[in-house]
Amino acid sequence: MSIVQIKDLDLYYGDFHALRNVSMNINEKSITAFIGPSGCGKSTLLRTLNRMNDMIDSVKISGAVSINDTNIYNPTVNVELLRKEIGMVFQQPNPFPKSIFENVAYGPKIHGIRNKKQLDEIVETSLRGAALWDEVKDDLKKSAYGLSGGQQQRLCIARALAINPKILLMDEPTSALDPISTLKIEELIQELKGDYTIIIVTHNMQQAARVSDQTAFFLNGEVIEFSDTSKLFSNP
Ligand code: ADP
Ligand code: ADP
Repeated sequence: MSIVQIKDLDLYYGDFHALRNVSMNINEKSITAFIGPSGCGKSTLLRTLNRMNDMIDSVKISGAVSINDTNIYNPTVNVELLRKEIGMVFQQPNPFPKSIFENVAYGPKIHGIRNKKQLDEIVETSLRGAALWDEVKDDLKKSAYGLSGGQQQRLCIARALAINPKILLMDEPTSALDPISTLKIEELIQELKGDYTIIIVTHNMQQAARVSDQTAFFLNGEVIEFSDTSKLFSNP
């Protein structure tokens, strides 16, 4: 079952042709890696999936990006509801200057959850889901900035999980981390696969080989190859 369908997608920043005739289907509860050199359109494609490109005035898009068979660029689509389906994690861990608890409770609060017991539950479940609960359960009121880089990134994953998304977008989530924290996040990504559809942008072929089911190779705005990771990395 595919959850994301991209068909004949072209994207321009002004005159610059950043995505060229991209088509791909992504299966539910799979891990897809976007790989390729810097500047070839990986982040741009990732950001079309939650309409983060809407903030850039010069962007022009043609073609279709559908999630569960709904074209998300259809003018009737509710972008707030769409973004509730999609969690995003960035390269630099970017917790808010708030407590660990408030970081995770932020999304649910925005979506109207006020009940303390319910928030407690969501925070615990999300931190457990991000493999961080045992390390922080006694420090929930402490600032997120006291955590290590790897812990901060897992906190950002917990913050994304707290809105109960179907899709997780990760833009080079380990590029700013040390090797041990990177391995922890890679293990976590694989654990999350049972519950979420994950798309991860990475510069690192070995990482794509370790974590993903499918890999899309980008070059100059084109997806030049999209296939099962095991096929791509096996010897011919
Ligand atoms: P990647 O993620 O593969 O490194 P990006 O998707 O970030 O590549 O960028 C693809 C190309 O689009 C690059 O040449 C980049 O400079 C350009 N680009 C990205 N964002 C913008 C923008 N807001 N305005 C103009 N050009 C942009
Ligand atoms: P990445 O880590 O994906 O390579 P970049 O460092 O290329 O990201 O881009 C960081 C930010 O700058 C993004 O928000 C992107 O949209 C914007 N950006 C990138 N290239 C350009 C550009 N040529 N003109 C304007 N904005 C750009």
